[in-house]
Amino acid sequence: MHGNLKQNAQLLNAYLKELSDLSHAKVVVCVPYPYLAQAQQLLQNTSIAWGAQNMGKFESGAYTGEVSADMLLDFGAQYVILGHSERSTAYCESDENIADKFMLAKQHGLTPVLCVGETLIEREAGVMEMVVGQQLDAIIKKCGVEVFEHAIVSYEPIWAIGTGLAASPAQAETMHQFIRQKLTQPSAQAEGALKILYGGSVNPQNAVQLFSVNGIDGGLVGKCSLNAQDFVKICQAAEQVCETLVE
Ligand code: PEP
Repeated sequence: MHGNLKQNAQLLNAYLKELSDLSHAKVVVCVPYPYLAQAQQLLQNTSIAWGAQNMGKFESGAYTGEVSADMLLDFGAQYVILGHSERSTAYCESDENIADKFMLAKQHGLTPVLCVGETLIEREAGVMEMVVGQQLDAIIKKCGVEVFEHAIVSYEPIWAIGTGLAASPAQAETMHQFIRQKLTQPSAQAEGALKILYGGSVNPQNAVQLFSVNGIDGGLVGKCSLNAQDFVKICQAAEQVCETLVE
C-alpha cells in the first residue's frame, strides 16, 4: 500500500529507462489494484510485465470489495502475487483460500507468484520445512503438483521481510532445494518451468550473492522496489548472474 500516481510514474519510467535492454532477466512489477491501469498504460509493449498483489477467490458475483481474475486480465496483468504473509497475518488468509486463488489464477492463464515462508519462532524451532511443506500441500491437495508447471514460488521467510535481515545463502539454498524437490516429484516435467524466487530484504548489496545461490531463480523485492536506483541495481544483479550462467 505504497505509492501514488505521480510516484509510480516516476518509478516505472525510471525502470523503463534503465531496464529495457536486459537480455536475460525478466522484470515484473506487481502493483496495487488501482494502479493496474497506469501500469498497463506505461508498460504495454515494453519488456516489463505487470501484475497484481492479490486476487479474489471466486469467478465473479456479489463479493463486495473483491477483484476477480478477469478484472486483472482486463488490465493486461500476467502475474498475481498470492499468499503474501502480510495478507495471511493481517487478513487471516488461510492456505485453503490461497489454494482456491491459485487454481483460479491458473485457469485464467495468470501466472501465480505463490509466497511461502516461516516465522522466526518456527525457524528457531527447526520446523521451517514442515511449515513451508504444509503451505505447498494445500495447493497440491486442491490442484495436484502439476499445477506448479509454469508457476512461480517465492520463498519469503517472514522474519526476513522488511527487516533488513535476509536469509543467509545457506538457509535459502536448503529451503529452495526442499521446495524444488517437493514440487518436481513425481512430475519431473515441472522442473524446467517452475521458478523459485527468494524474497526478504533483498537489496543492492546482497543481490548478487543471493541470486548466485544454487536453486534461486530470482527475487521478490519489496522495499527496494520503491527506490528506482536500488531496484535497477537489483535487476542488473539478476542480469549479471544470468549472464554468468549462460556463459
Ligand atoms: C515483501 O514485501 O514481500 C518483501 C520481500 O519485502 P522486503 O524486500 O522489503 O523485505
